[in-house]
Amino acid sequence: MGLYEGIKDVAKVVQQADNVELYRKLLDLSSQALDMQAEIATLQKENEELKNELHKKKRILRHKGIYITLEGEQSGIVYCSSCYGKDDTFIQMFDYDEECYRCPVCKVFAYKNDQ
Ligand SMILES: [Zn+2]
Repeated sequence: MGLYEGIKDVAKVVQQADNVELYRKLLDLSSQALDMQAEIATLQKENEELKNELHKKKRILRHKGIYITLEGEQSGIVYCSSCYGKDDTFIQMFDYDEECYRCPVCKVFAYKNDQ
């Protein structure tokens, strides 16, 4: 039985007892419980996102060039270490030419040979 169904069942019993004060308190507590349930769902989602972010950070491989890669990720995907250092964001760089990657956001170049 979920929280909402449980509250409805208790509300029926309290209503039959014909106690207005008890019913009012039940409604107040029910409202608080439902708010807390929503808050828990929000925190669980936020916690999951933070765990995923932490897991990703642990996989960072730094290179001499201004780029980073992620351990276990398919090769050839590189991220801008400048943007990561500034905003903690993973901005995928693109192949600019045979020698360099380039960040589409901060426009920095990274030499592919500086591994
Ligand atoms: Zn960048």
